[in-house]
Amino acid sequence: MNRKRPILLAGNWKMNHGPKATRDFLSQIQLEKKNHAKARIYAPYLSLSAATSLVSEKQLPLQIGAQNLHYERSGAFTGEISGPMLSEAGIQQVLIGHSERRQFFGETNESILLKTKSALEQGFEVLLCIGELLSERESGRTESVLREQLARILENPDCKAQFGARLHLAYEPVWAIGTGVVATPDQAQSTHAFIRSLLLQALGEAKTRDTLILYGGSVTPANFKDLLACSEIDGGLVGGASLKPDSFRALWDLV
Ligand code: PEP
Repeated sequence: MNRKRPILLAGNWKMNHGPKATRDFLSQIQLEKKNHAKARIYAPYLSLSAATSLVSEKQLPLQIGAQNLHYERSGAFTGEISGPMLSEAGIQQVLIGHSERRQFFGETNESILLKTKSALEQGFEVLLCIGELLSERESGRTESVLREQLARILENPDCKAQFGARLHLAYEPVWAIGTGVVATPDQAQSTHAFIRSLLLQALGEAKTRDTLILYGGSVTPANFKDLLACSEIDGGLVGGASLKPDSFRALWDLV
C-alpha cells in the first residue's frame, strides 16, 4: 500500500518489566532500522534509565517513552513524576489517557487535557489514547464518546497546533484491551475514519493528513498484518504482545 504516513509500532509494558527484565528484553532483541516505520516502548518509570542505556549501548532503533506524567512541573504531589524529571532521564515521548489510567486512577477528559497541554509545552511527543467501553459500543454511542474525549483537545489552540507533529492518537476500544477480542479490520478502519473526520473539521487537511492514528486492543503477530492493511491504521499500540522479545520482533517484521 502507498502510505501517506509512517508506521509506529508502540509497546505499552504497563506495570511489567522492572529494570532487570527490561535489560533482559533489550539484550535479547534485535531490530533493524526501517525508513518507513518507528518502534517505541512505553516502559515503567523505574525501568526508563535501564532501557535508555541499553538502547544506546546496542544502538537499537527503538524509542523509549513513559506511560504517564504529572501536569505540574514540581511540588507537593507525592508519588508522581513530572516532565522535567522525564526529560532529565532522556525521555521525549509520553503516553497520555490510557483507559487504565481513566478507569483505575480517575483520569478525566479534563485532567488528560492538562497533561497533554503540559507535555506538549515541555517538548514531549504525546500519544493520546481514546476509546469506548463495550456498553457504549453496544448502545451505539461509540462516535459520541470519541467526540467527547477529543472535544477539549480539539478546542485547545496549543494542542491543535501540535497535531501531526508532536501529538498523535491511539484508538483503543476498551473492550479489546487485554481481552483477546480484537476489533475487526472493518470496525477499526471505520472508527479511525470517523476520528479522522473529527480531526479534519477541527484542524484542516495538512495536520489531519500528518496525524497518526494507531489501533490498540489485543494486537498480536497473528492479526497485525490485516489491521495494518487498512489505510486509516497507522500502526499499533500493543500491550501483551510487546512483552516478549520474540513477539515484539514478529510485530516489527510485519511493519
Ligand atoms: C494496551 O495496553 O494499550 C493494550 C492494547 O493492551 P493489549 O495489547 O494487551 O490488549
